[in-house]
Amino acid sequence: MEKGFNPFAMAQAQFDAVAEKLGLEAGVRQFLRWPQREYHFTIPVRMDDGSVKIFRGFRVQHSDVRGPSKGGIRFHPQETADTVRALATWMTWKCSVVDIPLGGGKGGVICDPHELSMREQEAICRGWVRQVWKNVGPVQDVPAPDVMTTGQHMIWMLDEYENLAGGKYPGFITGKPLGVGGSLGRTEATGYGVIYCVREALKRMGIDLKTTTMAVQGFGNVAQYAIELFTRYGGKVLCVSCWDQKDQTSYTYRKMDGIDLKFLLGIADRFGTIDGAKAVEAGYEKLPGDAWIETEADILVPAALENQVNADTVKKINPRVRIMAEGANGPTTPEADAFLKERKIFVIPDFLCNAGGVTCSYFEQVQNNMNYYWEKDEVLAKLDVKMTSAFHAVADLAEKRGEYMPDAA
Ligand code: NAD
Repeated sequence: MEKGFNPFAMAQAQFDAVAEKLGLEAGVRQFLRWPQREYHFTIPVRMDDGSVKIFRGFRVQHSDVRGPSKGGIRFHPQETADTVRALATWMTWKCSVVDIPLGGGKGGVICDPHELSMREQEAICRGWVRQVWKNVGPVQDVPAPDVMTTGQHMIWMLDEYENLAGGKYPGFITGKPLGVGGSLGRTEATGYGVIYCVREALKRMGIDLKTTTMAVQGFGNVAQYAIELFTRYGGKVLCVSCWDQKDQTSYTYRKMDGIDLKFLLGIADRFGTIDGAKAVEAGYEKLPGDAWIETEADILVPAALENQVNADTVKKINPRVRIMAEGANGPTTPEADAFLKERKIFVIPDFLCNAGGVTCSYFEQVQNNMNYYWEKDEVLAKLDVKMTSAFHAVADLAEKRGEYMPDAA
């Protein structure tokens, strides 16, 4: 196992603690502690300058007990085998908690799309599929987008798969653009799912959403749609933080009377990085990356990467905070969890809170299989039902057994 912060060691520690409470037998524990299958491979790519570069790719299938494995493909320079293992493990839990007939998988490539042309990214996508196409597919393991991959990457992968498999298999991959078998509502699904959970948590706490404020880490797919729906419901978002590729650090952009989503979208690039100079010009405070967590808000939404709410940062949480809605995967470490428990902050754990994405991916597959496509309202209504019932099932159990939400989930 790799050294330093290790998301897979964290996932196993989370699992062990709950397996103990459940009294799971030893064989089942061993089975669920490790992925069932893993593929590690190299992807040679002819770069635009004529040289050949070798990228490392992964696909991890943690479990296919409940159905084909399911999970995204992440492009990130700090990707590791253990990150992919952790994300695959969390996918198994995620599909179970929202009760969809899928298992857990995850993929990745160590690369930085900021530094790659679209043609080079296409070559990575096609190379990834050539390495694993016999071991993935609609009835084995279904990929999707994740950090720094989009619908564009999905259609390159789908095209390569269909060329190799010799047929039309839209169910090979989800998160596809509309028109090639994508589902309406998929882009919004994860962020909206986060807010459906927040809405239900506030109801249980007897708090009117319209009186609440939120601080968000990240300004990508999940964050943007979470902000959009929360604001539409009448809540106020005070800040967002994002990565700055040029400065190699993150910044928080804050406006205590509420950020303007449309404006920030207009000055952000396709990676979800906000143009700092333009934000400052428009009256936003430009603060250090961690300032989102210190902001006096009722709800915190980490929606960037793992290991963000940790032993160091958790102590900076503003006393006003009541809810932590984990949009990202693995944002909170076990050390931070202990502190959140003590502070009685209501945690909506990642694999419940961000399950809207995979739930909608499942709807996308269902529509692909039927070859009949639903209207957006129908997709979002079904998503709301799934997320709301999963949320209350977990919250009921947590209440009944006096358990912490993440353990109950
Ligand atoms: P994205 O690539 O669209 O956006 C990521 C955002 O995080 C960007 O705005 C980036 O600037 C910001 N960021 C990166 N490092 C940061 C740092 N150190 N500090 C502050 N901001 C930082 O990714 P996404 O799809 O929105 O995914 C975000 C998280 O949600 C990931 O953990 C992902 O695994 C998880 N997730 C995504 C989906 C989905 O459907 N997209 C589903 C479930 C879970």
